[in-house]
Amino acid sequence: MNVLNDSVGRRVSYLRISVTDRCNLRCRYCTPEDQFPLLDHQDILTYEEILTVVRALVPVGIDKVRLTGGEPLVRKGIEQLVAWINDINGIHDISLTTNGVLLAEKGKDLRDAGLSRINISLDTLKKEKFSYITRRDYFSRVMQGVETALSLGFSPVKINVVAMRGFNDDEIIDFAALAEKLPIHVRFIEYMPIGSGTGWQAGQFISTEEIRRRIEDHYGLLQPIPTDNCAGPAEVYSLPGGSGRIGFIGALSNHFCDRCNRVRITADGRLRPCLLADIEFDLKTHLRHGADAEAIRALFFQALAKKPKSHGMSCNSVKKCVRLMSSIGG
Ligand code: SAM
Repeated sequence: MNVLNDSVGRRVSYLRISVTDRCNLRCRYCTPEDQFPLLDHQDILTYEEILTVVRALVPVGIDKVRLTGGEPLVRKGIEQLVAWINDINGIHDISLTTNGVLLAEKGKDLRDAGLSRINISLDTLKKEKFSYITRRDYFSRVMQGVETALSLGFSPVKINVVAMRGFNDDEIIDFAALAEKLPIHVRFIEYMPIGSGTGWQAGQFISTEEIRRRIEDHYGLLQPIPTDNCAGPAEVYSLPGGSGRIGFIGALSNHFCDRCNRVRITADGRLRPCLLADIEFDLKTHLRHGADAEAIRALFFQALAKKPKSHGMSCNSVKKCVRLMSSIGG
């Protein structure tokens, strides 16, 4: 069977699934506070449908799955979904992106279900700023979540920081210090113009290059860690004397489209070949009209033929994506 390649020969092996559009935070850069429509339960893919899709894609080379959201831990039975995916022969890596609020509660069950890796989103180390940016008062719960992930032995534990000038650029060194002290990978992500109504402004953008310079001014030269082509979007560095790592995801300034190996399923069951392009295919309807494994694969091949070579944005040339990040899943 042919493997999933797109029209420019990129091999796609990584499936990201947004399992819900619901979230227990309301991050200002991700979702509007209220008055945005949430999906009815029947409009999200069932676990059975998700498993059908993953099983159909293993023979064409999908071997890595990430669950995201919304907040994946608010969906009931998520631990069971992890266990079921983990049981699929051919899936070698199952990971999760979470805001960490429910991690202290659910971390152990997730690990026991076979979760391999975990990314926690955290944009500030200050309680008041956390309440401001997330519009919720859960800072201590997230910090407990980080501790839980470390104590359960998830490796690596990654912390994703969306860098925003005027909000958290004064904490760059504090975040780097976390990777110095603990075996954590701190990854700085460029703020992307996603989601109408979430207010991205050029003035808030800060490039990963500037962040790296600031860290190097403080710590000295960072040592690049070579990664293979499929390792993901981050450029990864070690910190002199530190146990963790620092990663930079230059989604706009230094985009990684040429090595993009991923495809996404949105919370409402649409297949989205590129994070930053509003091109989608209606996987859910296809499934609900009885698509079998071959028909599911055919839709993925069709979608990947339309995967843009590059998202075409840069820091100076931005077009806003309409869909909210909370339904794409990051
Ligand atoms: N609720 C989970 C979480 O918080 O990690 C998963 C979903 S969240 C949409 C996935 C990731 O997208 C998070 O790391 C979040 O910070 C990131 N994100 C959301 N909006 C973004 C934006 N405009 N630019 C860059 N990253 C963004």
